[in-house]
Amino acid sequence: MNEESSGFIPAVVTFFIIIGLIALFLFWNHEHDANLWNDGRCSCGGYWQYDQAVGHKYSTSYIFRCDKCGSLIEIDYIPESTNTMEVEENG
Ligand SMILES: [Zn+2]
Repeated sequence: MNEESSGFIPAVVTFFIIIGLIALFLFWNHEHDANLWNDGRCSCGGYWQYDQAVGHKYSTSYIFRCDKCGSLIEIDYIPESTNTMEVEENG
């Protein structure tokens, strides 16, 4: 058996397994954020208000504070339905 070909296949398989795990992690992370965001509502019934952006080494996340109980959540994206970012088009 030729050593080069026997080493190549496992390397490719490992590569795809790693890519798959990264994709799974990103998907899970997004689902996790969506659960935290909960359509803009805290579990107490208050609304998330944008607080600040936090820069990490490879990404930026956003801190939102509940306007009722003061809970904080940190998510990786600004949801589309952010009520603190109302666009006033009629003016
Ligand atoms: Zn709350």
